[in-house]
Amino acid sequence: MAALMVSISGVRGIVGESLTPAIIEKYALAYGSFINRGTIILGRDSRTSGEFINNIVQGCLLATGCKVIDVGIVPTPTVQMEILHHKAQGGIAITASHNPPEWNGLKFMDANGRFLSPDNANKVYSEADKGNFNLQKWDDIGSFKSDKNANKRHIKALLKLPYFDVKELRKRKFKVIVDCVNGAGGLIIPQLLEELGCEIKVINGEPNGYFAHTPEPLPENLTELSKTVKKKKADIGFAVDPDVDRCAIIANKGNIIGEEYTLALAVKFILSKELGNVVVNMSTSRASEDIAKYYNCPFIRTKVGEINVAEEMVKSEAIIGGEGNGGVILPELHLGRDAPAAVALTLQALLEFDGSMNELFLSLPQYKIVKKKISIEGLNPDELLQKMGEKHKNKKIDFLDGLKIDTENTWVHLRKSNTEPIIRVMAEAPTEKEAEKLANTYLKEIQSL
Ligand code: MG
Repeated sequence: MAALMVSISGVRGIVGESLTPAIIEKYALAYGSFINRGTIILGRDSRTSGEFINNIVQGCLLATGCKVIDVGIVPTPTVQMEILHHKAQGGIAITASHNPPEWNGLKFMDANGRFLSPDNANKVYSEADKGNFNLQKWDDIGSFKSDKNANKRHIKALLKLPYFDVKELRKRKFKVIVDCVNGAGGLIIPQLLEELGCEIKVINGEPNGYFAHTPEPLPENLTELSKTVKKKKADIGFAVDPDVDRCAIIANKGNIIGEEYTLALAVKFILSKELGNVVVNMSTSRASEDIAKYYNCPFIRTKVGEINVAEEMVKSEAIIGGEGNGGVILPELHLGRDAPAAVALTLQALLEFDGSMNELFLSLPQYKIVKKKISIEGLNPDELLQKMGEKHKNKKIDFLDGLKIDTENTWVHLRKSNTEPIIRVMAEAPTEKEAEKLANTYLKEIQSL
């Protein structure tokens, strides 16, 4: 049985196994107590377990005296935006992000619409374990209302940003295929594309929680989308994950250009309008870094995890940032990964570029990332990474998040998993062959230790 995953990205488990009503209850009560009778936005993705979890969470928040605004089935970034819109003190997105349909979980946010800081998340988790809850008496129970306009408001706020020329986009009538994998995206991405005057074909648009394929927007899961883009001679294809914070792009030839290029494109587009700081995580492609260098803009890397990137973006007043897994953070909108923003930015970039999506992709710095993992059963992962660092001490090494080793045009990032006895090995190089070779070299080195 897969264990409950508790991390800075929230709590995730398999429904009826590691994620039971009792588990949901203790985290919801602890979070409600933490928010201390404030207003909380409650939203969920389309998973079949969403409704029952929603009811438990809602009950717990009322029991701790909080005011709940239920926004229904929405993307995680929409919950983040609704916190700002309603000036709420927090928010919960009921989702297991890109995990398969049997999973679900809770993502907790603060009054700034950001994920809880690691310190605050740990506070909530420890109170949940201790059973320390701020339960209210009968005359101090919280209140409830529902608001069904969140997705519409999200689209409106996005298209109001100065980057978008909606009139010209409508004239251009992009032919777009979108795969929403039966997640929450079906309620916002087609609507956004319609606003932009696109000719749309939606695959897996019904938000019913029966994901038509493995929901992570990785190339191996996007074959139907890729074929459809090619067959229909579309300008572009988009795939989003069930809670719509990640977005992958398919170019006009049906080629899956991969999630890393969603962020690289957004970085290039924003910096071409305005110069400023860029923040990404340690595992994000060099493509974004090369683009920032080209524009002479400061480029900062953080630990992996949306909140780490978002906090650094605030500190350094960055104008664009995100994570290489298709997670674009546009701070003018809010400080979370936002797939609708990625879709709109990509279309505007394509509108302004004189050529096809594939040509636009080829105009960006070209790299390939290879991801592998290795079992280290019975070994101490931290000691292992220390030893690897020692071995490569003559290179540019960084222990901020696992071990990263940079060379002139490649890098390798080794990270332990918090849930399994494995080390993840990511390697990037100008070609797939080189990246593969690099990753294998490090796998062998770990094996020999
Ligand atoms: Mg997600």
